[in-house]
Amino acid sequence: MSEPKHLPTPAAKRQSMRVDYHTHSHFSDGTLSPTKLVEMLKAAGVERFALTDHDTTAGLGEACVAANEHGLELVPGVEISASHGALGVHIVGLQIEENNAELCAFLSQQQAARHARNVQIDIKLAKARWPGLLERATAIAHPGLVTRTHFARALVGAGAALDLTQVFSRFLTTGKPGYVSAEWPTLSCAVQAIAVAGGVAVLAHPNRYGLSGGKLRSLLQAFKNAGGHAIEVASGARSSDSLGALSDAAKRYGFKASIGSDFHDPAQTWLKLGRLPELPPELEMAV
Ligand code: AMP
Ligand code: MN
Ligand code: MN
Ligand code: MN
Repeated sequence: MSEPKHLPTPAAKRQSMRVDYHTHSHFSDGTLSPTKLVEMLKAAGVERFALTDHDTTAGLGEACVAANEHGLELVPGVEISASHGALGVHIVGLQIEENNAELCAFLSQQQAARHARNVQIDIKLAKARWPGLLERATAIAHPGLVTRTHFARALVGAGAALDLTQVFSRFLTTGKPGYVSAEWPTLSCAVQAIAVAGGVAVLAHPNRYGLSGGKLRSLLQAFKNAGGHAIEVASGARSSDSLGALSDAAKRYGFKASIGSDFHDPAQTWLKLGRLPELPPELEMAV
């Protein structure tokens, strides 16, 4: 990654900056190049952002060049798939040293696990009369790694469903014909991989796992016990809805806070970049 041109803003001033610490590019399941993503963030008034592609840091070099060009601060990031019992959860790593050898080895394992899962998904979809989907998904994913989102786009393209929401619920979620459970690493392993690379481990979108109050509390406690540093208190399009409850949770468990759009695609018209709520002043921003 090339060096940032400007010194980063001191921590005390960051609290009032317009930030977005969760975004995707076409190096995972986003549709934009890092350069285009930076242009969109700039147009939306975002001043400091993290690129957090799924299980890869391949887009950070390009993101850094574009961020320098447009005067944005880049926080190097990644979104790691992990497991909490049978539940798949996402841990965002912020301010990581992307060339850290242990992190690189860990992400290589994640990518190998993804490839093995993709092959199984392809076999299951072929049995459900949708053959050749891995090949299509791979073409759609280029130049990035292949995720379920790419299978979803390939299935929509093949006429199996109308849109991504429908295709996930009909094919790609638990119990459905194209679902393959993945053996993701534990919360501790994911946090450790981020921490050894000097990063801050953030539990992504805590409200998106469909958990009841008690189960969410046990996830937060497990993440704390695993050495997790922060949680996303605002995420995605309806980020204000959960801000109060998740801010309270952050305080109760002693977490720092992060906010991010989880932007993937400009076609997500319900999500407006640069419109995330401000962090309550009593919370400390993760980075
Ligand atoms: P993977 O990491 O390969 O399991 O793919 C997970 C990704 O699929 C998530 O990061 C989302 O971007 C996307 N995804 C999951 N569920 C849905 C859904 N119901 N509708 C649209 N995208 C989804
Ligand atoms: Mn995604
Ligand atoms: Mn996620
Ligand atoms: Mn994400």
